[in-house]
Amino acid sequence: MSKPGPSTALIHHPFRAPDGWDAVPVPVHKASTVLFKNTAELHQPRLGDGISYRYGLPGTPTTYTLAARIATLEHAEHCVLTPSGLSAITLTSLAFLVPGDEVLLPDNVYGQNRHLTTGLLSRLGITHRFYDPLDVPAFEAMLSERTKLVWLEAAGSITLEFPDLIGLLKACRARGVLSALDNTWGAGLAFNAFDIAPGHEPGLGADLSMQALTKYASGGADVLMGAVCTRDAALNRQLVAMHEYLGYGLGQNDVELVLRGLPSIALRYRAQDAAARDLAAWMAGRPEVARVLHPALPGAPGHAHWARVSRGGAGALFSAVFKPEFGARRVDAFVDALACFGIGYSWAGPMSLAVPYDLSRSRSLGLPWTPQEGGTLVRFAIGLEDVEDLRADLAQALQALTGD
Ligand SMILES: *Cc1c(COP(=O)(O)O)cnc(C)c1O
Repeated sequence: MSKPGPSTALIHHPFRAPDGWDAVPVPVHKASTVLFKNTAELHQPRLGDGISYRYGLPGTPTTYTLAARIATLEHAEHCVLTPSGLSAITLTSLAFLVPGDEVLLPDNVYGQNRHLTTGLLSRLGITHRFYDPLDVPAFEAMLSERTKLVWLEAAGSITLEFPDLIGLLKACRARGVLSALDNTWGAGLAFNAFDIAPGHEPGLGADLSMQALTKYASGGADVLMGAVCTRDAALNRQLVAMHEYLGYGLGQNDVELVLRGLPSIALRYRAQDAAARDLAAWMAGRPEVARVLHPALPGAPGHAHWARVSRGGAGALFSAVFKPEFGARRVDAFVDALACFGIGYSWAGPMSLAVPYDLSRSRSLGLPWTPQEGGTLVRFAIGLEDVEDLRADLAQALQALTGD
């Protein structure tokens, strides 16, 4: 090239950082275009293993680094990243279901999975049924030739019943039905999705584990991302193929945020777990509260199932069901009176959150309490504030329940 013009000189600049330069953070590689050394490299066939450095959409070294770390967190071999937790659910269901198939969902499944299944999947001719995650015999009786995928969620959304994972997974194995666990709550830390009870059921696990990295992996309440992990190379190829159809790309600055949050995930999980147990037990002792739902609390639905697979963790969440005399309006006043808790969705970020729920339209098989026992539910997500401030805040806000 003769002496280039100023714009050309900036774009085709010869300076390169030296090979071997290293630091703790993972470099942020951004790309739509990925450059080939020459046409011979361009014409080479693609690798079939899910890693492809031919275009920025499937991933860059930054995303593949995060995927490898999430696979490690999940005790898996393979991981596909998606732009949100919901898109990881969509990827999984679309990768393994075709018209005429049936998918089974736990009745306490994440609300957007229910919405996807009853809406889009139904339109595509994929049918569904809801099962009680605590009733294995009833679940077994629902498995049929048409059942091609079973979603599991531990603990279930909002009511936090911990399913009989061992029983459900054994039934799936016995019938050769694919199992996908929404493992957002456990995050790879509370239990091992792929070897759920190594002491007494070695090798028993889910085929696929999906997580919203939006929650614990990020920890910042500032990024949306999802992951689907597996130990099975053939299942991974199906995920990669669907990922390509859907054109799921990730912002590399978001990937950077999750890579930055990941080293502290176990510390944050433990801190939020300890604070949530403390506050859940305290709420359970309050006269306004009918029951507290938290898998580590004896008496909570599924507590024994949690204890059988737990490696100790129980996460940041608990729900309180208020006595029926406190109607939805009073419970809203309680939530509004909270000062240390934000009102908003998601969890595992720095700020504690509280959301009142009306579950009347999001359960097909009923609730774990009767109208005589309890009424409105508030789901709490404990953040990283000082526990005594949170407790004092709950105590002052409870006065709004009885005030006028
Ligand atoms: C938040 C959440 C999701 C979805 O994650 P997004 O990143 O918000 O789409 C899926 N499953 C569970 C259990 C969740 O809590």
